[in-house]
Amino acid sequence: MMALLAGLVVEFLWGMNSELNFFRILFGKVLYLFISVQFLWAQFYGDPPDKTHPWAVHDNNRPQPPRIEPGEILGTPPSDAIILFDGTKESFKANWKHEKHKRKKDWKVINGALISVDGAGDLLSKAIFADCQLHIEWAAPSKIIGSGQGRGNSGIFLMGITEVQVLDNYKNPTYPDGFAGSVYGIMPPMVNALKPPGQWQTYDIIFRRPVHRDGKALDEGYLTVFLNGVVVQDGTPLEGGGLHKDRSRSRSFPVKGPLKLQDHGNPVQFRNIWYRELRQRSVEGGTDGELSYEATKTKRAEIAASIRKDATTKKGKEKLLRLMESLCYEEDAVAITDAEKLRSEFIDQVKINPDSYKEDIIQVSNAVKYLIKHQRMRTDHPHIEILEKIIKNNGWKVKNN
Ligand code: MG
Repeated sequence: MMALLAGLVVEFLWGMNSELNFFRILFGKVLYLFISVQFLWAQFYGDPPDKTHPWAVHDNNRPQPPRIEPGEILGTPPSDAIILFDGTKESFKANWKHEKHKRKKDWKVINGALISVDGAGDLLSKAIFADCQLHIEWAAPSKIIGSGQGRGNSGIFLMGITEVQVLDNYKNPTYPDGFAGSVYGIMPPMVNALKPPGQWQTYDIIFRRPVHRDGKALDEGYLTVFLNGVVVQDGTPLEGGGLHKDRSRSRSFPVKGPLKLQDHGNPVQFRNIWYRELRQRSVEGGTDGELSYEATKTKRAEIAASIRKDATTKKGKEKLLRLMESLCYEEDAVAITDAEKLRSEFIDQVKINPDSYKEDIIQVSNAVKYLIKHQRMRTDHPHIEILEKIIKNNGWKVKNN
């Protein structure tokens, strides 16, 4: 705080360009200080971990989201996307294979588009993956031939199993669970947001595979689809993945599978195909969100150990706070003893001249109060009485977290 004020005075005396500039900097510093204080105290801020949540609410020990660069315009791949087709023949060759070994024709790349060829059979991505965000653009032939399921039919099969239908339904009715944007055989799209045939249509798909263990469904899997930016499937349960004519039933999927593009006899075009893998769900070992009791216990022990390790790099009050923080995640006899000792030393140090330690005292007192409130310390612990007495005697106003 003193350093901040000194800095401001120096800046002012050395002649800033204008008063406006000075106040702009002042505002910036105050904002920075406010944010710093929030971060500093966030350790003992939101509700602590519980039986199914390894993280506290607003937990700064939680990893920061990894930084990626978004695409320059919406629809172009972000920096962590895996590109399956970029419009070149090389990209087609590198990333795709025909499913049918005995065939007379191959899919083609013309003018940056990958085109389905009648008789070439389905196309499989060489990459195998499961839960993903998939971006894919397609265009039905501008020359209208056929009707119903026979007009501009292809399909995008997640893991080679569940089809998000590709069909020219611009002015072409068919059974709704076989419409463009349907999860084929399972769920019609909410609306028909198609452009006319010949124009490029965009799918943004979020897919989660069904996960079963020991014959029990842990997650039935689901699909969300945006067609031309319009949501047409909203977390639609997969119900086993969908079939032609037959009712599909709940079932597990393999761990990974290829993306499949369908040859349904119509020259449908594709371009700009990329995907990103999604974070693991808790049923697969992910540690974000609500977990099982056992997984929570394991994760909490891991977080506590990492905080205690960090505490070894610190001294005095900083070490004390880190050790106290670790107790929110896991009880540990050594950490309790070390924290007791450090807190006693801290109190001995600050009680002689409390004014110079005002912020530190309030901070430690708040941390103790937090641990007491959340049953990590006993309510009649003598330290809280001593700290509160110092605060009261000095007439400090304390904002409780
Ligand atoms: Mg199809």
